[in-house]
Amino acid sequence: MCDESGLVIMQNLEFSSMSLSDEMLQSIQKMGYTTATPIQSEVIPYLLQQENADLVALAQTGSGKTAAFGVPLLEKIDARQGQIQALVLAPTRELAAQIEDILGKLMKPLGMRSMTIYGGQSYTVQRSQLKKKPQVLIATPGRLVDLLNQNLLDLTGLKVLVLDEADRMLSMGFEEDLQTILSYTHSADGDHERASCQTWLFSATMAPGVKRILNRYLHKPKIVEQLSGNQGVSSTLKHHFVTVRNGYRKQALLRIVKSIDNFYGIIFCQTKKDVAEVEELLRGHDISCMSLHGDKQQREREHILKSLKAEKFSILIATDVAARGIDVKNLSHVIHYSLPIEIESYIHRSGRTGRNGEEGLVISIMEPSDFSKLNRLQRATKIQFTPYSLRKTEDVLKGIAKSELDQLSHFKSDSHIMRELKKICGELLTEQETNLFSTAEWIAALIHSKMRDHSIWRDDIYIQDFNPQSRPEGRDRRETGSRSGQKRRGPPSSFRRGGGGGGRRKPSKPSFKS
Ligand code: AMP
Repeated sequence: MCDESGLVIMQNLEFSSMSLSDEMLQSIQKMGYTTATPIQSEVIPYLLQQENADLVALAQTGSGKTAAFGVPLLEKIDARQGQIQALVLAPTRELAAQIEDILGKLMKPLGMRSMTIYGGQSYTVQRSQLKKKPQVLIATPGRLVDLLNQNLLDLTGLKVLVLDEADRMLSMGFEEDLQTILSYTHSADGDHERASCQTWLFSATMAPGVKRILNRYLHKPKIVEQLSGNQGVSSTLKHHFVTVRNGYRKQALLRIVKSIDNFYGIIFCQTKKDVAEVEELLRGHDISCMSLHGDKQQREREHILKSLKAEKFSILIATDVAARGIDVKNLSHVIHYSLPIEIESYIHRSGRTGRNGEEGLVISIMEPSDFSKLNRLQRATKIQFTPYSLRKTEDVLKGIAKSELDQLSHFKSDSHIMRELKKICGELLTEQETNLFSTAEWIAALIHSKMRDHSIWRDDIYIQDFNPQSRPEGRDRRETGSRSGQKRRGPPSSFRRGGGGGGRRKPSKPSFKS
C-alpha cells in the first residue's frame, strides 16, 4: 500500500500480535526480531489465514522477505510427515545458503529437517541427505532439474512452492529450468497450469518474464507491492555516478576508494577478468581485498563471505553471480566498476548496502559509452542519480602528506643509516641541485616519488557535465573534451535546437537538480 508520494504506509506489526505457534514466536525472538518489517506485516498474517492462496510479492531486496515467506511456510508444514512439503527456489548458491540459514534458525524448535541443493555439490552427498527425508528443500533450479530427471525427488506431498527473486532467476537464463520444475508441480488446465500446492512468487521487479510465469502458473494471486516508487530499490540508498574519459576507470576507482574513510563495501564488475584486474590493482596499492566469482569453490566462497562479515577485510570485488545472497550488515558502499546491462542487476547489486533500513551509498563509474545505460536505468527505476563529489585532490594530498610527515618525524637524523644516506646524497647531488629545492620541496618530491600512480589524482580525467535526465536515449555523446570544473551553462542538450533525438521524442523534464 502506498500513499501519494509513493511511500509505503503499511503499519509494522509486532510478531506477538500474529497467530503464530509458541515455538515459532520463540525462534523469532531468539533471532532478535520483535517488529515485523512492512513486507512481513502484510504477507505473514495473510498467508497464515489462507488455506490455499497464491501470492506475488514485489519487495525490495533486504526488506526481510525470507522470513515473510519462511514463517508462514514453516507454520504449514507437518513435522511428523517425512516428505518434501516446501520447495524454495533461488537463483544462486549464496542466496540458497542464506535462505537455509534463516529457515534453519526459524525451524530449530519445530523438529523439521531442511536440505539445500545446488550445482557443484556431490550427487552422492545429495542422495544420502535426501534419504533423511527433509520437509523443506531449498534449491537452485539447474541442479533440482537434474535430480528430478533422475527420479530422485518426490514432490507429491508439496504444500508450498516459493520462487524467490524470480526476476533474477529469469535474467540468469533459468526460464526453461523453471518451466521443467513447474511441470512437476503444476498440470495443464486450459490456457493455465494449476497446482495442488500454493505458489508464492517473490521478485524485486515485475519483469516481462515474471509476468509470464505469474499469468500462466499462479491462480488468482494476491499481489503485494512494496517497491516505494523505485522498482525495488531501497529508499535509504543514495545513487551517485562519476564519469571518466575512456580508459580511466581504474584511476577513478582508486581515487574513490582511497578517499573514503572506513570503506566497507563491494565493488561489482561485469567479468571475472575485470575482477582479477581490480583485485591486482587494489592489492598493488596495499588495499586489503578479496574477490568472489562463479569459478570459486563453494567452500571458498563461504569462507570469503564469513571473513567479510567478520570485517577481516573491508573490500569485496565480485561479479553479478555473487550479488544475490550477500547479506552483510552495515556495508557502507557499493561501487559499480561498470554499469550492468540489466536493470535488475543494478538493483540487486545496489541492494547489498542499505539493508533493513540502513543508509548506503552507491557509486557508478561510467565512461561515455555508459551514458545511455544510465539514462535507461533512471527512466525505468525513477532513481535520482546525482554526480558524486570526489574529494578534492588538495584535501586528499593533505592527508597523504600528513601521514608521510608523521612517519618522517620518527626518523632520527643522527641515526647511522640517515648519516650514511645524507653522505651518499651529498656526494651524488651537484651543487646546483642542492641549491635548487627548499626543504619543503625535497619532502614534497620524496612523497611524490612514493605515490605510485599519480594519474589517480588528476582532475582532467573526469567529465563533469553529464546530466542523465537531459539526454535522450540513443544519443550518447562521445567524449567532448570538456574540462573538469567547467559546468555547462544554459539549457541541457535536449532542450537546445536539434538536441532532441531527431525531434520525435519529447525531452524529459530536467527534474534532477545538480
Ligand atoms: P532478507 O530481505 O530476508 O534478505 O533480510 C534482510 C536482513 O534483515 C537479514 O539480515 C534478516 O535477518 C534481517 N531481518 C529480517 N526480518 C527482520 C525483522 N523483523 N527484524 C529485524 N531484522 C530482520
